[in-house]
Amino acid sequence: MTTQVETQSIVAELEAALARIGVNAASVAGPNPVLTPVTGEQIATTYVSNKADVQAAITAADEAFRTWREVPAPVRGALIKRWGELLTEHKEDLAIVVAAEVGKIHSEALGEVQEMIDICDLAVGQSRQLFGKTMPSERPGHRLAETWHPLGVVGVISAFNFPVAVYAWNTALALVAGDTVVWKPAESCRLSAVATNALLAKAAAEVGAPAGIHQLVLADRHDGEPLVSDPRVALLSATGSVRMGREIAPTVAARFGRILLELGGNNAAIVTPSADLDLALRGVVFAAAGTAGQRCTTLRRLIVHESIADAFVDRIVKAYGTLTIGNPREEATLVGPLINKNSFEAQQAAIAKAVAEGGTVACGGNRVLSDKFENGYYVEPAVVRMPSQTSVVEDETFAPILYVMTYKTLDEAIAIQNGVPQGLSSAIFTNDQMEAEIFLSARGSDCGIANVNIGTSGAEIGGAFGGEKETGGGRESGADSWKAYMRQATNTINYSGQLPLAQGVKFL
Ligand code: NAD
Repeated sequence: MTTQVETQSIVAELEAALARIGVNAASVAGPNPVLTPVTGEQIATTYVSNKADVQAAITAADEAFRTWREVPAPVRGALIKRWGELLTEHKEDLAIVVAAEVGKIHSEALGEVQEMIDICDLAVGQSRQLFGKTMPSERPGHRLAETWHPLGVVGVISAFNFPVAVYAWNTALALVAGDTVVWKPAESCRLSAVATNALLAKAAAEVGAPAGIHQLVLADRHDGEPLVSDPRVALLSATGSVRMGREIAPTVAARFGRILLELGGNNAAIVTPSADLDLALRGVVFAAAGTAGQRCTTLRRLIVHESIADAFVDRIVKAYGTLTIGNPREEATLVGPLINKNSFEAQQAAIAKAVAEGGTVACGGNRVLSDKFENGYYVEPAVVRMPSQTSVVEDETFAPILYVMTYKTLDEAIAIQNGVPQGLSSAIFTNDQMEAEIFLSARGSDCGIANVNIGTSGAEIGGAFGGEKETGGGRESGADSWKAYMRQATNTINYSGQLPLAQGVKFL
C-alpha cells in the first residue's frame, strides 16, 4: 500500500469508529491537524481551546460540583457503571481511534481500553465503600470519627502514550468521590479524548447526571495554564515528563493546591544466575521493545550477572531479530512507530551519546520503512552494552533503547538499579527466594513498583501505580487511591452532657 492509500484507509476506519461512538469527525474539525504516526500524514483536524475556554471549563466544573457533591456516592457510581458498559460496547471503536492517533498495535490499544473498563469496575465498587473509621475516644460519652468529602474540581493533564487510560484512572474515582473533572489531553491525541468524552457524556445523559461535571479542553500546554494556577482546581493530576512536573509543581505548591504527579521512569530489571532465563527473556523483550519503548514503565536498563551476561545478551539480540517491526494495523506487527520525528531524533542522539560514553551497540537503532512511509518513524529496538551507568543511562529517552550493564554482587546490582533520579518500576528475575526478598525489602528497590519474575511494564488496576523520586510520588488506580480525590475530616461528637477537655486540661 502507498502512504496515501494507507492514510485514506486509516481515515475511513477512524471516521467509522468515531461515528459508532457518536462523534461526527466534521463537527469537531478546526485548526489543529491530527497526524497518525503510522504514516506521519494528517488524518483529521480538531478545534482547539484557548485560555479563556479553560477558565470557562473550570467555572462550569466548579458550579457543577455544588450539585454533584450532594448526589449519594452509590448514585454517582451508577454513572461510572454506565460509562464502563459503554466502553465495553465500544472497546473496538475506541481502540481504533487510539491506534490511529498513537500508533499502538491493535492488542495494546484494546488493552488500554480494557484498563478503562477495569477502573470503572473498581470505582463502582468503591462508590459503596468510601469508608471512614470510628475510633475510641479518651473521654467518656464521646465518639471520634473520620468522614471523607469530595475535594472540588480535579484537573487532569495526560500524556500521549496512554491517551485515554490514565484519564479514566483519575476520572472514574474522582467522579465517584463527588469531584468534577476538567481534562486537558496531550496535544497529539485529541480525537481519542473527544471520543472518550463523548462516551462519558452519553452515560451522564442516560443516568441524568448534572451537566458540567466533566469538561474537556483541547488546549496546548500554554493555554492549559489555568489548570495549574487557578485555586479552584483543588487537585491537579498530571502525567508526563519530569520536565513538565518541574514546570507545574512549584505553581501548584505556591497556591497550596494538591498535586498528583505521574512522571517519567527509568526502569531496570536485574537478571540473576538462578533465574529461569527463558522466562526472563520473554519478560525483558516485551518490557523493552513493546509499545516501541513508549511506556513510562518500559524497561530501559538491564543489570545482568557477569557470569551469564554474554549468553543472555546474545539471546536478546536473537529474539529482537524475530520482532516484526512495521505497520501496527497489520496483525503480525509487534513493534509499531514512534510518535513523531522528535522521538526518532532523541533516540538517535541517545545512541550516539551512549557510544561516546563507551557503549557498544549490540543490535538495532536503525530507522526502517522510511522508503514506504517517508514521514512515519519506525526504528529497530536497540540493545546497547554499557561499561557502567553513564549520564545517558540516567536519562529517560522515550524510545526503545535497552542499556545493558553487568554486576558481581546483588548489593551492587541494587545500587545500580537505584542509582538514577527516577523511581517508577523495577524487577528482578531470580529463583532464589532470599534474593527476591532482599530486592523487595527496605534495602532493595526504591521504586513504586517492584516485581519478581515479571517485567517492569503491564500493571493491573487495583495495585497502586506510581513512582518515587523524580517520578513524582503519585499513586493512581490502587485499591485505596480514592483517598487522593477526597478530603478527610475528623469529627468529635460529645453525647455526655459534660465538657471534659482532652489530655485532662482544666479550664473554667
Ligand atoms: P509531556 O510532558 O511532553 O506532556 C504531558 C502532558 O503535559 C501534555 O498534556 C502536555 O500538554 C502537558 N504539559 C507539558 N508541559 C506543561 C506545562 N508547563 N503546563 C501545563 N501542561 C503541560 O509528556 P509526553 O511526551 O506526552 O509523555 C511522555 C512522558 O510521560 C514520558 O516521560 C513518560 O514516562 C511519562 N508518563 C508517565 C506516566 C506515569 O504514570 N508515571 C504515564 C505515562 C507517561
